[in-house]
Amino acid sequence: MSDLLAAAGFIAPGDLVIYHGSIPEFHGLYVALPCVCPLCLRMDELGFAVARYDLIDPFGEQAGPFHVRRQSITRSAACA
Ligand SMILES: [Zn+2]
Repeated sequence: MSDLLAAAGFIAPGDLVIYHGSIPEFHGLYVALPCVCPLCLRMDELGFAVARYDLIDPFGEQAGPFHVRRQSITRSAACA
């Protein structure tokens, strides 16, 4: 991860992120992975960059929100 990409807000698979989207119960810290639902896989096949993320709770078994918009997460300073 270069400083340039980080400054541009690029989120790489495995980055720690803060979710602050439309579901308050899920707000918090997660590991971000590209969403692999059928819609996103199809978009990938068509050549669109992955724009949605699956969020995984790094501290427990609980699943986080998935198919999350880029605007709903912020890359955490904890992984700088
Ligand atoms: Zn998806």
